[in-house]
Amino acid sequence: MDVKYLLSVDEMPKKWYNILPDLPEPLPPPLNPATKEPIKPSDLEPIFPKELIKQEVSDKRYIDIPDDVIEAYLRLGRPTPLYRARRLEEYLNTPAKIFYKREDVSFSGSHKPNTAVAQAYYNKREGVETLVTETGAGQWGTALSLACAMFDLKCKVFMVRVSYNQKPYRRIIMQLYGAEVYPSPSDKTEFGKKLLEENPEHPGSLGIAISEAIETVVKDEKAKYSLGSVLNHVLLHQTIIGQELLLQLEKADVKPDVMIGCVGGGSNFAGFSYPLLGKVLRKEEENIRFVAVEPKACPTLTKGEYRYDFGDTAGLTPLIKMYTLGHDFVPSPIHAGGLRYHGDAPSLCLLYDKGYIEARAYDQVATFEAGALFAKTEGIVPAPESNHAIKAAIDEALEAKKKGEERVIVFNLSGHGLLDLKGYMDFLEGKLQPT
Ligand SMILES: *Cc1c(COP(=O)(O)O)cnc(C)c1O
Repeated sequence: MDVKYLLSVDEMPKKWYNILPDLPEPLPPPLNPATKEPIKPSDLEPIFPKELIKQEVSDKRYIDIPDDVIEAYLRLGRPTPLYRARRLEEYLNTPAKIFYKREDVSFSGSHKPNTAVAQAYYNKREGVETLVTETGAGQWGTALSLACAMFDLKCKVFMVRVSYNQKPYRRIIMQLYGAEVYPSPSDKTEFGKKLLEENPEHPGSLGIAISEAIETVVKDEKAKYSLGSVLNHVLLHQTIIGQELLLQLEKADVKPDVMIGCVGGGSNFAGFSYPLLGKVLRKEEENIRFVAVEPKACPTLTKGEYRYDFGDTAGLTPLIKMYTLGHDFVPSPIHAGGLRYHGDAPSLCLLYDKGYIEARAYDQVATFEAGALFAKTEGIVPAPESNHAIKAAIDEALEAKKKGEERVIVFNLSGHGLLDLKGYMDFLEGKLQPT
């Protein structure tokens, strides 16, 4: 009956894994854009709580998960199951074994609450009253709204206006959790007002929404800003996925040959893979491939340059060394909205540069075909982002079949696609744009 591998409440890991001390060389520091000097952690205090800044630069390999965050994880459906994709294997007629970690089971439908609840907890503990963020299609906004509801914080979300109008369902979930959701540009900030004066129908962008969120935080002493990917502390919190996975692989009595995840900013890929990748870096494991999958429409690792760039479109953040397509790069509007980021997390970029991680990019239509096959065989409708990982897993299984190998393939199912049915509708009607 090797179909699923569960952990009990007591077996849930109590520590996050921090990859920074195990990196083959130190991470290039974030720079002040004006002076080109490394920024001081204290420069970040107006927008982030102290504990998260400490985690951002920590050299401790393991960091204890606070009890309140453990409780939140348990309520959110952790530990999440590891499944064997038996029916997909049968369909592909492959000797490969395919496993997937189910981050689709959280209330908001993705891995994002893993960091949202941790961030809400530390902010609450330091006396913050309001968390402010931006959201595109709404996955991050939903996760943070949920976390704020769990830790009694106010939540303000600047949602890109086109998404606010076209994708009402996630907005409604955020509002049910008690968040205030503003279409961005909004009349809540000076920057937003200025843009609305120029064009009352302004469609907005993620860069504008970030600017509005930061302006709101800087003007309100009791408010802080919160980010859903890219930063070291976000990746750290996501390692609960990979920490659980290590125990589940033991229960399944398998050693992965290849680990696969989709990459937007890198948080689910890192959270899923870093605990095992850390073992490779410490030479406790070998012969494991790590594959990061991105859309052809936003090929950050496969086509970007490794250099310093701004983290946001507007150029407000420190300069970060990463693979980047340029902070003004505008990807075509593919349905995998969570993968439309011009850069990637710095640690992931360093490990890719040093050859510890491989990358590949897929066309949107191919990823939806993979997602539809997964729905039919495994019964789960995956998020369009997760379809990228599924497509790579299928390709690996087919290659294993050609070579007659019993390859062990493990991928992260970062979320479900039940609020992304417009993309699947376009797919079924043959209207998806190839990239
Ligand atoms: C946000 C999101 C992603 C991409 O973000 P990462 O930080 O790269 O993980 C991937 N999958 C889902 C379901 C998402 O919501």
